[in-house]
Amino acid sequence: MKKLFTIITILITLSLIGIIILQVSWINNTLLIKEEQTRENLEISMYDLTSELQEEKSKFPSIVSPKMISEWPKDQLLNLFKAPTIAQRYTAFKMYEKLRKSFDRHGLRNTKFEFAIVSENNNFGYELQSGRFEASYEKSLEDTVNNLVYYWPINALEGSETESLSPNETLIVVISDFKEFIFRSLGWMIAGAILFTIIILAAFYITLRALLRQKKLSEIKSDFINNMTHELKTPLATISLAVDAIKNPKVINDPVKLDYFSTIIKDENKRMNKQVETILQAALLDRQEVQLRLKTLDVHHILSGISENFKLQLNERSGYAKMELNAQNDQVQGDEVHFTNMLSNLVDNAIKYSREDVPPILHISTQNSGNSLRIRVEDNGIGMSRETVSRIFEKFYRAHTGNIHNVKGFGLGLSYVKTMVDAHHGKIKVESTPGKGSVFVLEFPNAID
Ligand code: ADP
Repeated sequence: MKKLFTIITILITLSLIGIIILQVSWINNTLLIKEEQTRENLEISMYDLTSELQEEKSKFPSIVSPKMISEWPKDQLLNLFKAPTIAQRYTAFKMYEKLRKSFDRHGLRNTKFEFAIVSENNNFGYELQSGRFEASYEKSLEDTVNNLVYYWPINALEGSETESLSPNETLIVVISDFKEFIFRSLGWMIAGAILFTIIILAAFYITLRALLRQKKLSEIKSDFINNMTHELKTPLATISLAVDAIKNPKVINDPVKLDYFSTIIKDENKRMNKQVETILQAALLDRQEVQLRLKTLDVHHILSGISENFKLQLNERSGYAKMELNAQNDQVQGDEVHFTNMLSNLVDNAIKYSREDVPPILHISTQNSGNSLRIRVEDNGIGMSRETVSRIFEKFYRAHTGNIHNVKGFGLGLSYVKTMVDAHHGKIKVESTPGKGSVFVLEFPNAID
């Protein structure tokens, strides 16, 4: 079981790591391909646009009719209609629209871009003619980490009407936040991959937890069966021995011995009965078939009765129970049998889990707080670790440390206590120091007369 569990965990962990690595490399590849594709589309779209612009630039504006071109002397035409530059022909807004349209046509719908048209000036530098820039023009050009910059010449074609009539221009296009654009265009894919990876991780976690719980459950179960066998076998063995003894003619004729052995049989019988009761009760609680017969209870009376019942057991070990029943109002609404059982269980545990080296001293007290009754059961026993305290109310839980296993039980007592505290709308708190002792504090609403 344990081996299988380890193998499953290792296999799933390995495949998870594999899946995550594959996903990351797959996303990386897709990003690269997408980037390549986008660059290609950008270039095609720019090429198309600039070819169109170059052709336009190679002709005189449309007011110069073909007839004029063929009939008028060229130098006259030149004087009259200086072939205008693209920057002159289009406003920045129009140019922006042209670019946008061209990009949209090539599947680059959401690209953010800025542009400029520059022309060479006499000092061999560039001069900005027209453009649209959100930040400053130089700044956008410099930020080559985030931005992608294209320089495309727009010159009149060789041998055309207007060749060398208008200055050379360059269209500069800056695609802003290019990487982010690529990333965003794959957003859904990446989000999906991350989401499904998280789902797989969560499923793995839940499965592991369920497996662990199952494992714990099966341990608890086998513990319980061991305990039960032991608990039932011991009285059976004692009874068998006592019966054998009675069969002995010497014993049959001796009333004192006969009484002694029959008392043993009776006691062991009672013990077994109590154990069977505990198990049956737990089964009933499980099916939630317990019906509370509510009436007003005098808790002080119940506590005194319990202390009386345990007196003998305590005296045997030179211990005692100190009672401080200080509550003014000790009445609560409850089921007498279950309420008594519940408190009895706590006192029983306080004695069962006492230290061997010191006499058990219990301190049972009551107190009113607001409209509720607080009952404290304190012992000077072996105490519990923090981990134990957090689990004692679980069914079948028994602390596994020290020599506690010498003390018999099914681990059902406190789960019964908890169920009953809840059924009586109460609260229970536990404080414990290993080696020093434990305190159980219960609080119930007072009965309203
Ligand atoms: P059981 O006594 O049959 O084992 P319980 O549900 O009554 O089952 O108690 C669960 C566990 O809580 C015990 O096995 C013991 O380890 C611990 N425990 C309960 N009461 C005390 C106490 N007063 N002092 C120390 N440990 C206690």
